[in-house]
Amino acid sequence: MRNRKAVFQTKKADTRRIQIMTFKELNLIEPILKALNEKKYITPTPIQQEAIIPALQNRDILGLAQTGTGKTAAFALPIIQQLYLNKTGEKRREIKALIITPTRELAIQIDECLKDYTRYTGIRHCVIFGGVKQASQVSELKAGIDILVATPGRLLDLMNQGFIRLDFVRHFVLDEADRMLDMGFIHDIKRLLPKLPKTKQTLFFSATMPSSIAVLSRSILHNPVRVEVTPAASVVDTIEQYLYYVEKPEKKDLLISLLKKDKKKSALIFSRTKHGADKIARILNKAEIGCAAIHGNKSQNARQRALSEFKSHDIQALIATDIAARGIDINNLELVINYDLPDVAETYVHRIGRTGRAGNTGKALTFCANEERAMLKDIQKLTGKNLVVSNQ
Ligand code: AMP
Repeated sequence: MRNRKAVFQTKKADTRRIQIMTFKELNLIEPILKALNEKKYITPTPIQQEAIIPALQNRDILGLAQTGTGKTAAFALPIIQQLYLNKTGEKRREIKALIITPTRELAIQIDECLKDYTRYTGIRHCVIFGGVKQASQVSELKAGIDILVATPGRLLDLMNQGFIRLDFVRHFVLDEADRMLDMGFIHDIKRLLPKLPKTKQTLFFSATMPSSIAVLSRSILHNPVRVEVTPAASVVDTIEQYLYYVEKPEKKDLLISLLKKDKKKSALIFSRTKHGADKIARILNKAEIGCAAIHGNKSQNARQRALSEFKSHDIQALIATDIAARGIDINNLELVINYDLPDVAETYVHRIGRTGRAGNTGKALTFCANEERAMLKDIQKLTGKNLVVSNQ
């Protein structure tokens, strides 16, 4: 493991930072420490170091951070601890914490984290999202839960049907606010806000701060603690980046040979288009390389199945579009391949940020055809680094 600190790099000068080496120093309680120990988390990430103590004091947080920084634990742990320490002994469990996130994948991931983190606390949680039947979600809600993770559409839908009451919410998390805006959910959020109790803690996270998001954050946060980590332009230095100059018609053969050379390595392959992702999947299947494609035209079930097959190493490669992949958390992913260059240079940083996470090393390979060279230049300008040309 190389240079863990660089992985969760912060923008602010490190001299300002009080180095906290253990979770215990963040005042977390034993049932949570035990769960973190089982997850093998040793050092809190910068966002956890900065956010957990004020969040435990019920302060509002404005977090500028993207997926991969450890932000889920940064907001989840203080909520779990506060709920554990302030048990109300109500007859029926009411929703006391609400976490809103834009996509089904993110919602499921957050819920999986909650499952691990709440293991020794007795706190109950569940997740709701659209695109699937509501019956099992409704029955979980009816059984009574403490923390609800939801995508905006399904939340409003079940609220309108009378299955969800938010009168008891004390902690509210708005996750990936900038993506909410991109995906057109901002009106849903604005409809939801008045339905929440006035007095509550709000934890607001966004990777970027476009002006409409800044305005929204100011309107819902009270004297927040601002926490900022890893801006999109910085690539963590645990990721080795290599470049292949290869023309379009030769890309498929290069891909096949690289994947066959290292059969044990799981690879996340990026395609700029949905059509392209399907095409790559067909090519790899033909070459007998286990793979699946995920993108917006795939059903929720197909996407979940592909993701779980990939996570359990049943298939070697997952081919994804940027929208489908952003926010997917795959532990120990060693290899990212940019089959096409993205249209926006920042997307390159998001793509390769899928590897080299949480202190692990990773590799990112980029295929660049002649007509993609202008984009390559933009990427190198943004990251301030020239990619190493592979001689293999
Ligand atoms: P997130 O930004 O919340 O999606 O987290 C990114 C990844 O880092 C997830 O796989 C987490 O399980 C992992 N992670 C979060 N906090 C830590 C930590 N303190 N130490 C090691 N891994 C962590």
